[in-house]
Amino acid sequence: MKNGNHIFQQYSKYVMPTYAKTPLVIVKGKGARVWDINGKTYLDFFPGWAVSGLGHCHPRVTQAVSGQLKKILHVPNNYYNELQGRLAEKIIRYSFDGKVFFSNSGAEAVEGAIKLTRRWGSHANKYEIICMNNSFHGRTLAAITATGQKKYKKGFGPLPGGFIHVPFNDLERVEAKLTKKTVAILLEVVQGEGGIVVANKNFVRGLRKLCDKRRLLLIIDEVQTGIGRTGEMFAYKHYGITPDVMVLAKSLGGGFPIGALVAKRKYADTLTPGTHASTFGGSPIICAASLAVFEAIEKGRLLQNARHMGKYLMKKLKALKDRYGIIKDVRGINLMAGLGLSINGRAIVDEARSKGLLINCTHDTVLRIMPPITVKKKEIDEAIGILDEALNKHI
Ligand SMILES: *Cc1c(COP(=O)(O)O)cnc(C)c1O
Repeated sequence: MKNGNHIFQQYSKYVMPTYAKTPLVIVKGKGARVWDINGKTYLDFFPGWAVSGLGHCHPRVTQAVSGQLKKILHVPNNYYNELQGRLAEKIIRYSFDGKVFFSNSGAEAVEGAIKLTRRWGSHANKYEIICMNNSFHGRTLAAITATGQKKYKKGFGPLPGGFIHVPFNDLERVEAKLTKKTVAILLEVVQGEGGIVVANKNFVRGLRKLCDKRRLLLIIDEVQTGIGRTGEMFAYKHYGITPDVMVLAKSLGGGFPIGALVAKRKYADTLTPGTHASTFGGSPIICAASLAVFEAIEKGRLLQNARHMGKYLMKKLKALKDRYGIIKDVRGINLMAGLGLSINGRAIVDEARSKGLLINCTHDTVLRIMPPITVKKKEIDEAIGILDEALNKHI
């Protein structure tokens, strides 16, 4: 890349090598597009693992944040900041009656869910959490332990105990693993890092019934699926059930770092003063951004857009599948889409990028496509055109 070399060198010398890097320096973004350091533009159909769910630099978000920048940046959590209360109420109005704890990331929200659950169960000596194979819940020690993929845990032992893994979408195997010590069941209803694997209706409804019968908490990780990505504010709504605990992050902040732990009212007061905290959690700047995300979704009717554009995207992807034998299946819900390939998808991702489209490949063979929920029909058409050319080159 023409102008990136000194930046690549700085990274290689001074930044820990925790990320597989693509040689692309991004300097600007607007809506579904980004610009690189050489002025080349790309359609971003994988904006930050769903972080920029409203597209880049949504005007409502940038305005709300610049307004707040002139007032106060940080209010410590031993005082009150009016925006945090408003944001908590907003999240509750869209989910279920309960309370919210704010953190800075998804893993930290997952960690909070584990702590809440364990503390709630501690009086009955219950602490085991049933987790799903192939899941992903973040990178803290407890979160990698809950995660159902070996590659994230290797070399980090000893890991905390009490996490039991079962195959996804297999209710009987969950039942078989319940013990007197089981306290909760944790899952994503669409596994994101796991390769866009959608939970069956019967599975999720069965888990809800099981949790009711055995007095267990149903914890749903909506970090990737949440805030409109699947055409509902939260993906669990497709299943006609309500979780007891939900975790959010990624697109909740419109590009700013935030995580949220949401628990039903009867469980929410488990975490009392002194039992849990996060110094930066729910700061005014971040809450202003997040409130603007909800406002943008409401004013722009973006859930509806995600459903309409999601249907359109799925139709277009299925048409590609009919033409290319290397596409085995099209998976997902609305704007959380995956193409299962019979070959490694890396070369297709690279080819698409060189033609001006950013997408992702997970699990080697799954192309992941998650455009912003503001996406327009003509942007989908353009992306599909590029993907078509990239596929054509690799059959
Ligand atoms: C990304 C992700 C996390 C972790 O979030 P971070 O903000 O990276 O800590 C947890 N759960 C799911 C489902 C995710 O996709």
